[in-house]
Amino acid sequence: MTHPAQPKASHFINGAYVEDTSGTPIPVVYAASGEQIAVVHAATPAIVEQALASGKAAQKAWARMTGTERGRILRRAADIIRARNHELSVLETYDTGKPLQETLVADATSGADALEYFGGLAGSLTGEHIPLGEDWVYTIREALGLCVGIGAWNYPTQIACWKGAPALACGNTMVFKPSEATPLCALKVAEILHEAGLPAGVFNVVQGMGEVGGALVTDPRVDKVSLTGSAPTGKKVYAAAAEGMKHVTMELGGKSPMIIFDDADIENAVGGAINGNFYSSGQVCSNGTRVFVQKGIKEKFLARLAERTGNAVIGDPMDEATSFGPMVNENQMNIVLGYIEKGKAEGARLICGGARCDMPGWYLQPTVFADVTDGMTIAREEIFGPVMSVLDFETEEEVVARANDTEFGLSAGVFTKDFTRAHRVIGNLEAGSCFINSYNDAPVEAPFGGVKASGVGRENSKEAIKHYSQVKSVYVRMGDVEAAF
Ligand code: NDP
Repeated sequence: MTHPAQPKASHFINGAYVEDTSGTPIPVVYAASGEQIAVVHAATPAIVEQALASGKAAQKAWARMTGTERGRILRRAADIIRARNHELSVLETYDTGKPLQETLVADATSGADALEYFGGLAGSLTGEHIPLGEDWVYTIREALGLCVGIGAWNYPTQIACWKGAPALACGNTMVFKPSEATPLCALKVAEILHEAGLPAGVFNVVQGMGEVGGALVTDPRVDKVSLTGSAPTGKKVYAAAAEGMKHVTMELGGKSPMIIFDDADIENAVGGAINGNFYSSGQVCSNGTRVFVQKGIKEKFLARLAERTGNAVIGDPMDEATSFGPMVNENQMNIVLGYIEKGKAEGARLICGGARCDMPGWYLQPTVFADVTDGMTIAREEIFGPVMSVLDFETEEEVVARANDTEFGLSAGVFTKDFTRAHRVIGNLEAGSCFINSYNDAPVEAPFGGVKASGVGRENSKEAIKHYSQVKSVYVRMGDVEAAF
């Protein structure tokens, strides 16, 4: 019997599911059991061509609709997603392995938020009038054209919506390629958008590995590329986009600092460290994986952290009591195990976890290392798994310098009761998305994105509109034209 997660076909192009089984098969393996639950096929050059051609052909008419009309479709899609949240959350869990306890509240719901938010903004995207005496300039905020979205595997529904919603609100069309590790959810997003009335060709989904992404990014019809992925992939995709002078948004990796001062509320700081390291089994780009704890509270913090981490309910992701699921796949589990071994070998003190769980599926124990020093591999490289590094510090000046001593700059958090210090420290940290006495909140109303090697551009909020539109300026002369001859 076909598994319920098996999609109707591999791709969604020009308003319909499309199959081409001559593409390389991409098996979809459920991370909690290791069983294959579905298969899709990578896009062949013919499929890539169909998707780009349909996106290109649909764009002008889509952009000519009023913003209110476009927004209504996006908001209708948000309503459908909310109505079908349970079913979509189950699919997200099959796609990623993340526990239903998370997917019910974080994935389809945040996708719906993006569709609702940008749907609401679509009708108010305007230019301005710039008076110049008798003459004037007016500006028109125009769509960029055809956009390519390329996703990572940790939030397949959310990433499709975070890219698709602002792109479509501005009058662009999109070809979206999910990660090969999680190909299922973006297809549902496309299906629901069309159920909500989206014209054919406006949002297309094609499957494939890096080479399909590469073919999309280098196509001359494409005006903008938005990637969520690792920094090394980001560098390649950014360079390829630059060849064609395309607009980009790069949402890349991080090694973000979380700074906990002696005066912090310990329970909140421990809660922030747990959320910022173990949610989605640590597969979150903005995670605060370098937890700097001021010396006075270090042992108290570690004791409480170990105690609360012991309360993680590791098990069947479909059981709503489960609070910690498997890694997305065996490969990622092995990468993370390699980092855990490096942490041990380089002399970090293992506080808890540190091994694979003795059960089927790709489960790792939530792992905390203390006495981590700045030069250790686990303090320098993005692990993308449930591995927290706790580092000690003494002074504010010292911790700010050490927190900034990384190529990355996605997020940063500070826990303290001294608000003057909190704002001063945040002001000095090189990061795009910051938190005070909290960690990893990502409401659609707030800009999200990184500095340094963590990326270019911002998703969410009104900022995203700037990254999916461009301004045309028009000078209007009321009098005669003066010419030299
Ligand atoms: P990858 O960088 O490996 O892949 C990202 C996407 O790019 C995938 O769809 C991948 O395809 C595709 N791709 C790979 N090579 C190319 C290429 N040459 N041209 C075009 N596309 C290409 O990232 P992961 O999927 O492993 O995701 C984890 C990473 O994503 C982490 O570094 C994480 O920090 C980051 N991330 C960043 C977020 C942010 O908002 N800043 C949010 C979430 C994750 P395929 O994998 O199918 O081969």
